[in-house]
Amino acid sequence: MPRAKKNTAGDASLEKQIYDLKQLLEISKSLNSVIDFSTLIEAILYTCMGQMKTLGVAIFTKKNFDANSFQLNRNYYGFDLSCDREYSIPENHPLIKALSALNACMTVEDIKKLGIGEDDLISTLVELEPTLIVPLKAKNHVSGLLVLGEQITAEPYSDYEKEHIMNIASLAAIAISNAALLEMTTTDMMTHLKLKHYFYTVLVEKLETSQEQNIPLSVLMLDIDYFKRFNDTYGHACGDAVLQMVASVIQQNTRNQDMAARYGGEEFVVMLCDTADKTAMKIGERIRKSIENLDIPYEGQHLNLTISIGVAQYDPSADTTAKSLVDRADKALYTSKQSGRNRVSLAE
Ligand code: GH3
Ligand code: MG
Ligand code: MG
Repeated sequence: MPRAKKNTAGDASLEKQIYDLKQLLEISKSLNSVIDFSTLIEAILYTCMGQMKTLGVAIFTKKNFDANSFQLNRNYYGFDLSCDREYSIPENHPLIKALSALNACMTVEDIKKLGIGEDDLISTLVELEPTLIVPLKAKNHVSGLLVLGEQITAEPYSDYEKEHIMNIASLAAIAISNAALLEMTTTDMMTHLKLKHYFYTVLVEKLETSQEQNIPLSVLMLDIDYFKRFNDTYGHACGDAVLQMVASVIQQNTRNQDMAARYGGEEFVVMLCDTADKTAMKIGERIRKSIENLDIPYEGQHLNLTISIGVAQYDPSADTTAKSLVDRADKALYTSKQSGRNRVSLAE
């Protein structure tokens, strides 16, 4: 007679197991339909709270695809954390290696038993008083950690619940890995802004919504002034560092729903959703001023540079394509260049 396969279902009824399997299917569908990273993290946190009946949940993931540590995401629930402290776990920490090798969730006691040693990181984790630490593992690779608080019932997590959260964690890890892959293939490595082709893909979608719902949308085109001369004078490496500084200023001036992209060498484009030209001009002016005020250190000197900007608001009757809107912003940029540079001009 074949021996019954050992599982951890324990006394969970068949109905409960079927229900949980259906839940996993729903979780998989919903997590895989989210491509925006912060929305995905929020969806994972809510799923864990609902499924594990806990009010405490936090998640550590990589901030960038090329980062080598996991950072605590700022949207967490139920943990008493200091807001001016960075909670971070190096990717090569023995705890991550242990969680990956054992492929199991752990309590703080389990971790202590592993003899990993008390370092700052372990003490930080202990300080959080987590009930369960769950690796987010997909494709044999740990992409983060889930930290769970106590269950509402104050009961310890059963083996069955631990198996359930491991299943959820592996679905979450696949979704995170897909989102990271999308980010990697749509992001310019040097500036960490989006690539032009991805910008256009999103712009086409946003213009449809904008037209259907009569919501304004504006585009900024930006081009660094006399950048060839800057490169020739201070060298390409200094030029590259400046491109990163300028990109960072542009990024800081765009909200989550907006998108900034590297359009070409030293040209950038920004999509401002739900924004009419008057506000877009103000945002352009803010970026222009911030760049003019940048203090660029170079071999003991303080360098400066400027940027020219063109602004255009989407006009459904004139802009039959996304390209035509960007072209109008580009023409306005040309006006800025022609009229002396370091200025913001509005499209006709
Ligand atoms: P304008 O004010 O008319 O825009 O003058 P400009 O010199 O900025 O414009 P031009 O198009 O003549 O030159 C652009 C320069 O941008 C040429 C190139 O050296 C520089 N550039 C483009 N991409 C990069 C890059 O990735 N790194 C660095 N360091 N320079 C770049
Ligand atoms: Mg230029
Ligand atoms: Mg240019």
